[in-house]
Formats: sequence, structure tokens, C-alpha cells
Amino acid sequence: MTHKPKLLIVEDEAAILRGLTDLFTLQGFYVESEQDGQKGLETALAGKFDCILLDVMLPSLDGFSICNKIREVSREQAIIMLTAKSSEEDIITGLTLGADDYIAKPFSVKELLLRVKTILRRTGFNENIKTLTLGENITIDCVHLTGQVNGKEQLFTRREVDILSYLNKNQRPIPRSELLAQIWGYNDPSEIDTRTVDIHIAKLRKKIEHKASDPKLLVTYRGEGYKLCL
Ligand code: CA
Repeated sequence: MTHKPKLLIVEDEAAILRGLTDLFTLQGFYVESEQDGQKGLETALAGKFDCILLDVMLPSLDGFSICNKIREVSREQAIIMLTAKSSEEDIITGLTLGADDYIAKPFSVKELLLRVKTILRRTGFNENIKTLTLGENITIDCVHLTGQVNGKEQLFTRREVDILSYLNKNQRPIPRSELLAQIWGYNDPSEIDTRTVDIHIAKLRKKIEHKASDPKLLVTYRGEGYKLCL
């Protein structure tokens, strides 16, 4: 028997939940669902899921709090936030808390499937690297996702470590589309409209730069991409 990917959907709107459950079941997923935030968190922590879809507005506990609490326990868990389209703030908050990706409502079924399948097809870019050393002041344990940055402990997500490893290996400005392809695994990044990369870079700057607003390590080259300057 082949392994069915396990998906948890936390969504309180019954019609959307039913639609998503049918969709992913038909696509060969094993689907569990919760309509309540607190229950969603408990289920998320109790089971091993390949991916969790998290709505933001939920009864008893919102999606951001759920994401935050999952991250306290696991920085490997794949999480996609379902955000309100208009809410840029939602997107930034969600990704700051450590979601791997977001999709804005109303979303197309095709795009959501693409996002989930992409997350499952982890590129595992840094699988062989145990320790990532960036300059003199940053050392990251790529197995446990912990690091020392300027003498202080810092926690990273798998995705963040993948980005740093990739930039470190390729000492040139890397375009956003290349990061989407190499780190997120999108085969055709042009069909994705997402600020995920920018937001992950912003998060990384907060973690590794002395001053995130004036980056010296993770530098933007206008029109070219991001480069790690060590
Ligand atoms: Ca909702």
C-alpha cells in the first residue's frame, strides 16, 4: 500500500471545508478536519500530518495562534495559511509566525492543490549539510534548526535554513523566481503570484542582521535578486 499524504484542514466554514475535504480526498489524500480553533490545535499536535491548512478566523483560537503553538513544538511541520485576500497584514503575520506559505481567499482550487503538492515535494536542499557557518558570527545547526547569531540563540524554520544554504552556496544575486523554484519547488514560478519570498527574506533579516532595515548580509540587488554578502 502506498503512503497517502496526511492533510489536516482547520476551517470553520462548513461549505469550504466540505469542498476542500472532497477535493483532497479525490486527489488521494487522507484528510482530517476541525472547525474549531482549539480542537484544530489539539489535532495538529496529536497527529503526524504532511501538511496543515489553517484558516485565520476561527472560533476559540485563531489560525495565527495555532501556527505559533505548532511552531513551539515543531519547526518542520508544513503549514499553509488561508488568509483573507485583502489582508496584507494577515499574510505578513502568518509568515512571520512561521507558516511555509499562504494562499489568499477566494483561491482557485488549482492553485491550492499546486501549493500543497509543492510543499509535500520538499526540495530537501540542505539535507547533507549538518552545520551552516556564515561568516564569523553565525552558526546554524541544520539538523535541529537552532543557531548562534552574534552570541545569541536564534531559532530557524526549515525553509529559512534552506534559503540561507542556497544563497551561501551560490554566491551571486539570486532572483525571486529561482528561489521559488529551488526552495519551494514551484516548477513554473511565473504562475504563482506570491510575496512569500520577500516575507521570508524580511524574517531572515530580523534574525541575522544587526539592523533589519539596513541589511549588510542579506542584500537586495535591484532587478537581480538577493545575495548573501559575508
Ligand atoms: Ca473562518
